[in-house]
Amino acid sequence: MELPRPERWDLAGKRALVRVDFNVPVATVDGRLEVTDDFRLRAALPLFRDLIARGAQVVAATHFGRPKGHVVEEYSVAPIRRRLAELAPEVELMENLRFHPGEEANDRAFGESLVAGVDYYINEAFGASHRAHASIMIPPTLVPSAAGPNLAHEVETILSLLTNPQRPFVAIVGGAKVADKLGIVKVLVDKADTVIVGGGMAYTFEATQGRTIGSSLFNADYLEECGRLLATGKVVIPLDTRGLADGDPVGPSGGASEPIDFGANIPNHHEGFDIGAKSVALFEETIARARTILWNGPVGFFEDPRFLAGTAAVARAVATSSALSVVGGGDSVAALRQLGLEGEVSFVSTGGGASLELVEFGDLPGLRALRESPFA
Ligand code: AMP
Repeated sequence: MELPRPERWDLAGKRALVRVDFNVPVATVDGRLEVTDDFRLRAALPLFRDLIARGAQVVAATHFGRPKGHVVEEYSVAPIRRRLAELAPEVELMENLRFHPGEEANDRAFGESLVAGVDYYINEAFGASHRAHASIMIPPTLVPSAAGPNLAHEVETILSLLTNPQRPFVAIVGGAKVADKLGIVKVLVDKADTVIVGGGMAYTFEATQGRTIGSSLFNADYLEECGRLLATGKVVIPLDTRGLADGDPVGPSGGASEPIDFGANIPNHHEGFDIGAKSVALFEETIARARTILWNGPVGFFEDPRFLAGTAAVARAVATSSALSVVGGGDSVAALRQLGLEGEVSFVSTGGGASLELVEFGDLPGLRALRESPFA
């Protein structure tokens, strides 16, 4: 995808607005909020340094949390500003874009206010580019605009999987709801050789085979579609399940009950929360054969340590593979990080929602805005 780039701009004495995604974790340290993971800030430094070296004055803007159009002290960018001042003291950081209702409403006047006195705009916020928000959509209509290097690289990496993958290309799609992820499974059935489906979304697929799923997550509206996808022969679903009886507590702090191995069928009044041993073996073998891997979404309720095993096995299989591996989605990345495997994959996508939408639709509103800019 051809995106306008900032390389040829004459930036001497000019002001550049950079839309970043500094929506980073913070925690209270010595009585005040501090950034606990500054990876996203450090990732923007090469761009900031390049713009500054070329004579620009740089102002950055980000969303942070969900203040929903109100000024909420807790979501002030103050802690991010403090950390940024240590990393790039020349860069100014505007207050949280979402303090203004115009941001999420894609309000033109708010977008205009963002570029008042600004000569150039750069979108370096891949993780926000699937949202038609003012800071993403309006500046490209008003000033010369371009894609930042990280955004461009991320788009390139994800699209290259879809256009020219080394085969076999194995995709792993997990997550809770079949309604959220069926679109991407449909696209991947076309593009990949095998699509492994796990997590809560898998039970609707299992149900189409006449298997019982107890009280596991299920959506009858998608039965037919899931059946059609299975009939392609490209979709691999779990062979067996582990879980609990209804009412047994489940969650990040675990619970007292031992998980039950259900095999292929889950009895009434029981719920599946992870894949079983046969599925682990099948998923591992399938992933081991891949030369290209895309993984999005956990294959179980991995936040509960009793149901981490399936997702951990997928994470290890992806990490030990020598295939080109791209992992997207907050939960999959969190699982990788928890296992210390983040550095073992080829590419970790910074935007869960954005990477899913880019795979599904081949484009994002924020990318379209850059390409359709009258200055492009
Ligand atoms: P999503 O937000 O759709 O990517 O789904 C991620 C969530 O799905 C995680 O919080 C997982 O705990 C949850 N999940 C995965 N498998 C299951 C399952 N079998 N039952 C309930 N929740 C699940």
